[in-house]
Amino acid sequence: MGLFPWQRVLALIGATFVIALPDSYDSHWSAKDIIIRDVCVIGGGSSGTYAAIRLRDMNQSVVVVERKDRLGGHTETYTDPGTQAKLDIGVRIFHNTDLVKNYFARFNVPLITADLQAPGESKYVDLRTGAVVTNFSPGDPTAALGAYAGELAKYPYLDAGFDLPDPVPADLLLPFSDFATKHRLEAGVGLIFRFGEGIGDMLRLPTLYAMKLVGLRVLQSIQTGFLTTARHDNSELYEKAQAVLGADNALLLNSHIISTQRDTNDGYVRVVVATPSGQKLIKAKKILLTIPTTLDSLDHFDLDGSERSVFKQFNPNGFYTGILRNTGIPDNTTIINTGVDTPFNVPFLPGVYSIDPTGVPGLHGVIYGSPNLIPGERVKDDIIAAIQRLRTAGTLPTTKPEFAVFSSHSPFMLTVPSNAIAGGFYRQLYALQGHRHTFYTGANFHTHDSSMLWQFTEALLPRIVA
Ligand SMILES: Cc1cc2nc3c(=O)[nH]c(=O)nc-3n(C[C@H](O)[C@H](O)[C@H](O)COP(=O)(O)OP(=O)(O)OC[C@H]3O[C@@H](n4cnc5c(N)ncnc54)[C@H](O)[C@@H]3O)c2cc1C
Repeated sequence: MGLFPWQRVLALIGATFVIALPDSYDSHWSAKDIIIRDVCVIGGGSSGTYAAIRLRDMNQSVVVVERKDRLGGHTETYTDPGTQAKLDIGVRIFHNTDLVKNYFARFNVPLITADLQAPGESKYVDLRTGAVVTNFSPGDPTAALGAYAGELAKYPYLDAGFDLPDPVPADLLLPFSDFATKHRLEAGVGLIFRFGEGIGDMLRLPTLYAMKLVGLRVLQSIQTGFLTTARHDNSELYEKAQAVLGADNALLLNSHIISTQRDTNDGYVRVVVATPSGQKLIKAKKILLTIPTTLDSLDHFDLDGSERSVFKQFNPNGFYTGILRNTGIPDNTTIINTGVDTPFNVPFLPGVYSIDPTGVPGLHGVIYGSPNLIPGERVKDDIIAAIQRLRTAGTLPTTKPEFAVFSSHSPFMLTVPSNAIAGGFYRQLYALQGHRHTFYTGANFHTHDSSMLWQFTEALLPRIVA
């Protein structure tokens, strides 16, 4: 089934106006290519998978449209062919909450307390030169984290989403470096930065984003322990969810949206999807969008003026991970990128955050961040060059490693500047919830934290099924 000519024209001109579907629209489709559901979930990562499973519990019929060949999104697990060891290269840890424990238990995926202690030796190296940063020690962050927790406690609403008061408190709008200096948090910034990896240029971003990513819940879990899967295979949760949804004909993998029509007369939105078995027409009462809502990602959606004016403000950043083979770095050594001359000694970005032992001989994990999107090939070259600088600086006898696996998790954080936040950006974003039969969950509606996204999604579900 091809696109109708008028759909092609609308796609080309990026139409922002709405039209009612002609009554004859569906008759162009054969019955076997029409999927009728209560909810069409777009994106089968952390939030989309959770939502689909829970909507089924609520007797809703669902279909999940996922562009990859698997569920899980940023949850990715590498299997070492030599040892069969499982290594999570994306999401690793969860909060110890009843919701998390019940979710994993229903799929019979056992959890344990995560061990976040780096084994062996940590070297603090400025990877721009490869040289050890002499006289650097991370110091004791306890008092600073206590002061940070006190500040976080002033904004309890951040735990549930972006329901910000008007006016937005001035401290939330300060660049995080100014906020940290103002509240004497210097000794805690390194640790907050490490737990906020992926955010990009945390120091220059509004404090709101640091507080959303490294909030009270995270500080509590640092004290009491995070959970991880006992088999060190977080993807198992998604494989099991995939089996349940697949058996229910509720999954369209390797699929992408061709067009949507959300202003219709019969209470059903239309979503045209390209799938491996041809194009399908989904007729659903509601859409739940869980993908990053940038204009690029929503290219094929029939956005109206209010949606477009909000989503166009998001700035995406880049986040990349991989596993390296044969770096020449000892198996029990961690390299923490440390700026010799940067504020709070945070790593200079774009650049490596850290190179970490994996527990598998000859394999190190690597995490890389960038304030803006950069091509994966450039990131890989930059990582290899950084490792070779360890040798030229005389720090470690490194060799030229290969990537066992590399993954771009970009776009990652979607942020807007302080003036947009102060001007009510998040009120406008949240006003879109339910607009044109479309609901939203996922990281840019709350935060990059799977456990907290499941909680956010859980709170949204009653509105979707109402
Ligand atoms: C390296 C890394 C480590 C992390 N570690 C942790 C951690 O330890 N603990 C934690 O809680 N959180 C962690 N996070 C953050 C957390 O995983 C993410 O915030 C979470 O996955 C976000 O969920 P989401 O549903 O918004 O997006 P995703 O999980 O990314 O899901 C979005 C899905 O939509 C799909 N998609 C995108 N565009 C389209 C489209 N046009 N059509 C169809 N499908 C589409 C994607 O393929 C993806 O499957 C980590 C993230 C990364 C990248």
